[in-house]
Amino acid sequence: KRLILVGPPGSGKGTQSPIIKDEYCLCHLATGDMLRAAVAAKTPLGVKAKQAMDKGELVSDDLVVGIIDEAMKKPSCQKGFILDGFPRTVVQAQKLDEMLEKKGTKVDKVLNFAIDDSILEERITGRWIHPSSGRSYHTKFAPPKVPGVDDVTGEPLIQRKDDTAEVLKSRLEAFHKQTEPVIDYYSKKGLVANLHAEKPPKEVTAEVQKVLS
Ligand code: ADP
Ligand code: ADP
Ligand code: ADP
Repeated sequence: KRLILVGPPGSGKGTQSPIIKDEYCLCHLATGDMLRAAVAAKTPLGVKAKQAMDKGELVSDDLVVGIIDEAMKKPSCQKGFILDGFPRTVVQAQKLDEMLEKKGTKVDKVLNFAIDDSILEERITGRWIHPSSGRSYHTKFAPPKVPGVDDVTGEPLIQRKDDTAEVLKSRLEAFHKQTEPVIDYYSKKGLVANLHAEKPPKEVTAEVQKVLS
């Protein structure tokens, strides 16, 4: 399967991804995770991306398309993939289509994590992540066994620098202006499945499974 997850920050894409990934043996490509790794490692790419990310703005299309193009060459991505947080602009969607066309494949489904903006501040400000795995927790909705510590590795959890109420406003603005048109783009192709992303995680998982079965 070739899947795209689209939804505003905090809508649950990262929480559902590992479940879908394991069930269908797909590779999981999250542009946000890849960009944060590049920023942490201070690579040339990371240096270019940092400013936009800190402000809650989108990184340039060329940079992210380059990352995805490179990552999709991995052997583990040949059978199928989950794109989490990409494409976020119509230009990115068009580039992705071109990329897949060259390989003779196409996107199978776009899962739209539909949710009201008003729910997202609490989700985002309570989020704690394990940077190396991308696992996320929530102080109220999904607390780790030991506060501040990853359940699996015992390593410390961190809060993302952009997970503040203030930066969230910019990220939501970018979502409505630049990413909602991506949902229209795929709707016209008949590929979009809408999820009730405000429901508890297990119910969202059940909806995903129904769509993919
Ligand atoms: P995204 O990847 O879309 O930005 P996450 O999956 O990281 O979102 O979820 C954001 C925060 O909300 C995390 O702290 C996560 O634990 C929590 N969360 C995810 N899904 C749900 C849900 N269905 N109900 C309540 N909290 C959730
Ligand atoms: P979330 O899902 O919580 O909104 P991500 O981890 O997907 O956050 O993205 C974090 C930041 O990385 C975004 O605010 C943006 O600056 C950058 N980013 C991630 N993916 C893209 C993309 N496809 N295009 C442009 N910028 C991106
Ligand atoms: P429960 O405690 O409700 O029985 P589990 O412990 O079986 O749930 O949770 C299964 C997975 O779902 C765990 O990885 C947990 O972190 C995650 N999870 C549970 N509730 C939430 C939530 N509200 N938001 C994000 N993830 C959650």
